[in-house]
Amino acid sequence: MKTTILFIGGGYTTIWAYKQIVTPDIRKRIKAGQLELVVLCDRIHHYFHGFTGEVISGMLPATAICTPLQLLIPDATFIYGSATSVSPFLNTVKYLTQDGRKKEVHYDHLVIGCGTVDKDDSVAASVGVKKVDGLSNFLGQLKATLSACKAHTELKPTDEKEHIVLLGSGFTSVEMATNLSDYMQLNFGNIANVSIVNSGSGVLKEWQDAQPALVKYAEKIMKRKNIQVYRHSRVIERTKEGVYLSGGVFLKSRLVINAMGQQPQVLPGLKHLAMNPAGKIDTDAFLNAMGYDNIWCGGDIARIKKPFGNGDCPPNALWAIMQGSRIGRNIRRSLEGKRPLKFRFPGLGQAAAFGKGEGALELYGMAFKGWLAYIIRMGFFFYFFPAKMRLVSLYWQAIKEKRKEKTISHNDWKSGEEEDWISTQEKESLQVA
Ligand SMILES: Cc1cc2nc3c(=O)[nH]c(=O)nc-3n(C[C@H](O)[C@H](O)[C@H](O)COP(=O)(O)OP(=O)(O)OC[C@H]3O[C@@H](n4cnc5c(N)ncnc54)[C@H](O)[C@@H]3O)c2cc1C
Repeated sequence: MKTTILFIGGGYTTIWAYKQIVTPDIRKRIKAGQLELVVLCDRIHHYFHGFTGEVISGMLPATAICTPLQLLIPDATFIYGSATSVSPFLNTVKYLTQDGRKKEVHYDHLVIGCGTVDKDDSVAASVGVKKVDGLSNFLGQLKATLSACKAHTELKPTDEKEHIVLLGSGFTSVEMATNLSDYMQLNFGNIANVSIVNSGSGVLKEWQDAQPALVKYAEKIMKRKNIQVYRHSRVIERTKEGVYLSGGVFLKSRLVINAMGQQPQVLPGLKHLAMNPAGKIDTDAFLNAMGYDNIWCGGDIARIKKPFGNGDCPPNALWAIMQGSRIGRNIRRSLEGKRPLKFRFPGLGQAAAFGKGEGALELYGMAFKGWLAYIIRMGFFFYFFPAKMRLVSLYWQAIKEKRKEKTISHNDWKSGEEEDWISTQEKESLQVA
């Protein structure tokens, strides 16, 4: 009898669970046909979201942060499809292939690492970077918007400037806004405003009580970069010309970005497990979904109690990596007939970068800012980056191109081309099912 370990999603949880499962002994069992690892994912890349700011500023090419999944999971079968429902009683997952066929796959162990989706934003119909093709869509629209703003400024320099609007005021929004401002200044000059629309009173609410000095630091940088924050405001209407805010303000804009945060999207069949108001799946201390010893859950889709201290684990990459690693080790232990162990990560902190050398870091409750924070953050990110040599090689290529062209560009990708972000060489070595 073959044992099947099925992973839903190709994010941090899956990659680190996979890494912990695959040992030389497990590889032998896969080769002997006793065990199979299957990854079901609706995209062909693993995304390192933490570097989104660096992609926007032009420091890193987008291809560098999108690693072809099959390079990271060489011992697994890759299914390119979207899970549509799970039957925990029949041990099966139904999915839709890329060409629209309905299929089903069996599992003995199921790892649910399907993360979250951008918060619903039907009013502003904004661009989200987390969706399939989200990053390429965003970069394509940014390019079109900036080119149009440049042409308009040349033609009518005294006209009111257009706004690039970011919805939300958390880490994603502030990092995107500050890096976007740097990119624009360097390549286009002062042709548009970068504006944040925030329903609350201040930015970086995660740090407002614990790290007020880091919030002040971020606000100072935003002020210097001319980023306007519209507090206690929401978009109430969007037209072709721009957005109307709840306070009566109108912002002329054609690019509105969804940085409001994430929400879970629990698959049919698992909804009875998502008992908490946020809709996340509750797990026990071993990271099993409550009541099932063969369904494992980690990362943003899971609600996991902090092993030390109060509250739940925050939804970020480091926690997803640590939870994925524990899930991987526990599945391996179970294959070896051993009991699973509890998840026991104490946490480290949180980091952000608001431009080159403008880092902010909370490490074990201590605050760091500037170059020191920036370098420590880069060190951590590089340490956890799943394909380091590929990153270095693409970064090096980008530097050479920048020198040649004396300009920073987001390359010439257009909207919807994201699934082609794979080099010819890589394409030849991979087979996408
Ligand atoms: C713009 C941005 C910047 C961020 N910056 C940071 C940062 O600086 N530091 C930090 O710690 N965290 C950061 N985060 C948060 C971090 O990326 C998440 O916490 C992390 O990705 C969670 O990992 P995960 O494994 O749960 O899910 P993800 O990494 O989101 O992976 C989910 C996977 O599941 C797939 N999937 C979803 N639904 C289905 C389905 N139905 N069928 C098949 N596959 C499916 C997705 O395509 C994806 O491959 C950022 C997030 C964003 C969006």
